[in-house]
Amino acid sequence: AKQQGRSQYQFYSPEINTQLQERLTLENELHGALERNEMVVYYQPLIDLHSGQITAVEALIRWQHPTLGMISPAKFIPIAEANGAIVQIGEWVLRTACAQNRAWQLAGFTPIRMSVNLSARQFEQPYLVEVINQILEETELQASNLELEVTESFLMGNIERSIKTLKQLREVGIWLALDDFGTGYSSLSYLKRFPVNILKIDRSFVQDVVSNPDSAAVTDAIIALAKSLRLSITAEGVETQEQLDYLKMQGCDEGQGYYFSRPVPAEIIAPMLQKISQQ
Ligand code: C2E
Ligand code: CA
Ligand code: CA
Ligand code: CA
Repeated sequence: AKQQGRSQYQFYSPEINTQLQERLTLENELHGALERNEMVVYYQPLIDLHSGQITAVEALIRWQHPTLGMISPAKFIPIAEANGAIVQIGEWVLRTACAQNRAWQLAGFTPIRMSVNLSARQFEQPYLVEVINQILEETELQASNLELEVTESFLMGNIERSIKTLKQLREVGIWLALDDFGTGYSSLSYLKRFPVNILKIDRSFVQDVVSNPDSAAVTDAIIALAKSLRLSITAEGVETQEQLDYLKMQGCDEGQGYYFSRPVPAEIIAPMLQKISQQ
């Protein structure tokens, strides 16, 4: 009983109370944040490691809170996922990102892929494929200029249904990437059943790929696996020339990370894109 009393006391410790308070504040203010125009999409380039050109950008949401400042998606996406707000927010990100990609094309830039993260809740929506088709139609973006990032962990929740949804998205012509690869379930036997095009090696392996032989071994194995399944491979979180050299040497196709660019507003991306006439 004494033990229990102690743990209850710890639950109400000021530190945890502050975290709880913050979560409650964010949860309350998440409703209406879209309507108040507080959400913004940043874009981070993905670079073809052979040509050095931008081939895609990843859309990453930020919340510009009027008093709390810029809030990271790592903080509010889990809350939005828990209370369901992610469905509306995710749809807004998709629409904004697709419209942005089309706008770059209309401005005369060589088409690139727009990569958008899907959450588990969104992926489970019965009308996901219809909603995405609708957004592509509305924004006049070709499906082949859209990529969706999914994670192994939520695909593993209902494998048969996941495979069915992924197949439907592939039939539309959308690219599919398996995000944070290497961190989830080691579902190697399922990997060949998921109709994905791209594996994204998680940042945690890339981070110390030069200094930690274990991370290098995992990275090499993931690249080899991707090659044998004829998947394209993207390394996340590339921060240094040494990491880049290593990944290139191992045959990685694309890189993304602070070495190339942080996630930035759309107007910062435009000058990095190629004009059609420069090809
Ligand atoms: P993620 O999908 O794994 O996105 C990559 C994260 O790594 C981004 O964090 C990006 O800013 C960060 N990153 C990229 N390069 C580097 C690097 O070189 N070094 C370091 N230290 N970090 C790097 P961000 O933007 O804070 O997003 C965090 C997570 O929030 C994302 O992880 C994703 O899971 C989620 N998220 C962001 N936007 C959305 C969205 O629109 N929908 C959903 N469902 N989730 C989102
Ligand atoms: Ca991602
Ligand atoms: Ca990732
Ligand atoms: Ca991640």
